[in-house]
Amino acid sequence: NFDMLIVGGGPAGASAAIYAARKGIKTGIAAERFGGQVADTLAIENFISVKATEGPKLVSSLESHVRDYDVDIMQGQQAAKLTPASESQSGLVEITLTNGAVLKSRSVLLATGARWRELGVPGEQEYRGKGVAYCPHCDGPLFKGKPVAVIGGGNSGVEAAIDLAGITSHVTLLEFGETLRADDVLVRKLKSLPNVKIITSAQTTEVHGDGEKVTGLRYTNRETNIEHSVALAGVFVQIGLIPNSEWLGEPSGNAVKRTRYGEIETNSKGETSVPGVFAAGDVTTAPYKQIIVAMGSGASAALGAFDYLMRQETD
Ligand code: FAD
Repeated sequence: NFDMLIVGGGPAGASAAIYAARKGIKTGIAAERFGGQVADTLAIENFISVKATEGPKLVSSLESHVRDYDVDIMQGQQAAKLTPASESQSGLVEITLTNGAVLKSRSVLLATGARWRELGVPGEQEYRGKGVAYCPHCDGPLFKGKPVAVIGGGNSGVEAAIDLAGITSHVTLLEFGETLRADDVLVRKLKSLPNVKIITSAQTTEVHGDGEKVTGLRYTNRETNIEHSVALAGVFVQIGLIPNSEWLGEPSGNAVKRTRYGEIETNSKGETSVPGVFAAGDVTTAPYKQIIVAMGSGASAALGAFDYLMRQETD
């Protein structure tokens, strides 16, 4: 049995594991894939104190840092169910894996991250990291002085377009529906910018490139059915970030409380609605999904969980 079992091995989980292990408590990490989204990232230039690195490099430093401590790392393990201590026979929080094994712990820290919703059009995968981007805070500066498109006219798309208009030469914002869905204040701000073009009723059909990098995209105007082409250096896809929380089941009864988007609700100590269950990183309601933010929240939640453990009666 563990004192702290962490589910997820991205930056939030790795940071939580180090903070937990440094308290001398029995710590485990169960993760499908160590490194999480960082493993899929090319250049990283905003991990403060490291001027420039690459995803796989950062993942291997993360892993070697965690391995310096007495942490039981269980890779390739997918969690399928969480049973609160109040409902389990053991009186501990239980995590059932897809292979049927049950892990038991006095506290559990959920750090299963999130994934960007993809367009699913030709060229998107081929040019991922070669012009197709999902994170304006991460990749915006790579397109300095060049024309880009943002796909998605919700809050995140409009925020991205406003942000990118200050860095790039021109931003084309494409929205599938007839109107933008972002807050009025953001839409007004966007419309006030001289280097932004807004196109509604636009269905992106293809991202194209020269074999090495993005050169543009094609979209169909859903009202006229006419196909158009836009020349671009980058395409930012902003159609949603999906938290990896589906495995927690229906958000009812004693289940871990989530928002309607599936984000786990936490307080500033990382506590969830279930006693002994904490959460950190992109899977939570904490805003600004970034490596450094995820690591900070992993540290806070691990300390929050340790605080909780100290206050528990032991047999
Ligand atoms: P994740 O990194 O998503 O890790 C989740 C972990 O949980 C993984 O180990 C995963 O395998 C595991 N997991 C998921 N479900 C289960 C399950 N059911 N059972 C067991 N394990 C599970 N941020 C920056 O700060 N700078 C950048 O330059 C940057 N660039 C990015 C580029 C790309 C292409 C992407 C996708 C993201 C980028 N980000 C960047 C964002 C950053 O990667 C995330 O904010 C960060 O990784 C979140 O950390 P996390 O630990 O919360 O989750």
